[in-house]
Amino acid sequence: MAWHVRGVVLPDDEVRDLWLVGDRVTFSPVPGARTIADGGFVLPGLIDAHCHIGIARGGAPITSLDQARELARVDRDAGVLAIRDAGSPFPYPELDDEPDLPRLARAGRHVAPPKRYLRDIGVEVGAAEVAATVAAQARAGNGWVKLVGDWIDRGVGDLAPSWDADTMTAAVEAAHAAGVRAAVHTFSESAVDIMVRAGVDSVEHGTGLSLDLIDEMARRGTALIPTMINIRTFGGIADQAREKFPGYAEHMLALRDRFPEVVRSAYEAGVPIYVGTDAGGGIDHGLAAEEMLLLREQAGMSNLDVLAAASWRAREWLGFPGLVEGGLADLVVYPEDPRVDLRAVRDPARIVLRGRVIR
Ligand SMILES: [Zn+2]
Repeated sequence: MAWHVRGVVLPDDEVRDLWLVGDRVTFSPVPGARTIADGGFVLPGLIDAHCHIGIARGGAPITSLDQARELARVDRDAGVLAIRDAGSPFPYPELDDEPDLPRLARAGRHVAPPKRYLRDIGVEVGAAEVAATVAAQARAGNGWVKLVGDWIDRGVGDLAPSWDADTMTAAVEAAHAAGVRAAVHTFSESAVDIMVRAGVDSVEHGTGLSLDLIDEMARRGTALIPTMINIRTFGGIADQAREKFPGYAEHMLALRDRFPEVVRSAYEAGVPIYVGTDAGGGIDHGLAAEEMLLLREQAGMSNLDVLAAASWRAREWLGFPGLVEGGLADLVVYPEDPRVDLRAVRDPARIVLRGRVIR
């Protein structure tokens, strides 16, 4: 069975016809194809570049593949047809090619320092074991490793880097030697400085970025996944921590308050920015559209750049070809033009994943 889709295919600004055969796209007419969209605005399927389908609501690791399927379907039904899983305590390589699930770019488990990260989520190791652990987690994932660059150090009463600069640099080198890219969680100023200079491929959150470091990221092409939805929860984190760790609480609030300006500066400097929600644990799945709207409203990104950050540009970055000849038959169709009113992305009229009509 082949499908026919007609509409304005973004980012180009023209009405085009395309055909979906199997899980591929072609611009050559396929006789007998059934038309499933005629009119509207067609985008390569959205991505969520920072998502956790291995962490259940509340923060515990999932315990079955079905739980991961269920969470991934929530994202899929919002038009997210590829997910970069930014660390999972539960391995699920079996789901990579599952026909009705989003395509997956997976890290293995988070690599974290002992007793400093979310309980039961990461592989917790001391400095001497970091590089070997990264190599092992590179094999568990399919293209990424996830490093925890900082977290609260209860002895210090504030955020602190997970390991020293030499160890973190060796961790990034171990990832690259294993042929994968490295993503790093950072909230603090100190950790993100170490990690960008260590050559990490993507900064997750990055609340501690300075203008100097933003320029360095732009120069290196280091990606930023701001997860603005997540940063909005810092007030709750600060409230819980204030009694025992007042300095940490104040630090988190300061990082939250300056963050829109950080993302705006990164955008203006030309840092590649991608849409990621940090769904899993404390944040619901299916919120990619809300993250897109935050990037526009809080960081001043143009509608077109937000769409690129959630669709064609992000897909290219993750290695999932879009709506080109021979590309992947993953698309969303909106009745209204999301370049004019970005809120259109909240409600796709049509969703096609791997050539299968989902909606
Ligand atoms: Zn995360």
